[in-house]
Amino acid sequence: MSMAPGPGILAAFEAAKGFMPVDEGLALYAAAAGAARLGLPLLEVGTYCGRSTILLADAARAAGVTALTVDHHRGSEEQQPGWDYHDPETVDAELGLMDTLPTFRRTLHRAGLEDHVVALVGRSPQIAALWNSPLSLVFVDGGHTDEHATADYEGWAPHVTDGGLLVIHDVFPDPVDELTGQAPYRVYVRALASGAFTEVSATGSLRVLRRTGAGI
Ligand code: SAH
Ligand code: MG
Repeated sequence: MSMAPGPGILAAFEAAKGFMPVDEGLALYAAAAGAARLGLPLLEVGTYCGRSTILLADAARAAGVTALTVDHHRGSEEQQPGWDYHDPETVDAELGLMDTLPTFRRTLHRAGLEDHVVALVGRSPQIAALWNSPLSLVFVDGGHTDEHATADYEGWAPHVTDGGLLVIHDVFPDPVDELTGQAPYRVYVRALASGAFTEVSATGSLRVLRRTGAGI
């Protein structure tokens, strides 16, 4: 199986709204393509408009598994009106609230990947509390407060199967580089300290860890 997405997929990724540069996207794709061979679903926390979902979906398609993606679609703190990462196109004019679900659905449809993705719309801890089956990969790219990043780790990392991958985005070890806080970095440190995960690769702010031990 190829460890790089096809040209159409990469073009769709680059055209999609979102927060992931190409080098990190390629690393995410390679991780997903490898993990999906375990024959279990892949799960993302933080769909936004589907940019990274495209890559997980294409890796899932190639392996015959499903990509799951979790988001309440109301945006993180730093994406709200008046903040640095706000995009006015993501606001539902009728409600005056962010709603990234319509853009996500268009993005996925245009990429021809709708059949390979199940979107879970809701708060990550609420969905995690209902979840009870193993996953080949968990990609944590949700809220950047300690409360959210910690809840994502505690809620989803236990479901990563033996030999499966935990991928964390926006890991900035140096506070100077931090854009939206260091909570993802603290989660990364905690995952390694747990003894359950071993680092496989680092690309930009993307860290790929493999489950090599029990517990979290
Ligand atoms: N993966 C995306 C970027 C995700 S941005 C890309 O590649 O472009 C982070 C997303 O996490 C936002 O869409 C926000 O709505 C979502 N989010 C933040 N906290 C959340 C929570 N507690 N539950 C569900 N979604 C959350
Ligand atoms: Mg991110």
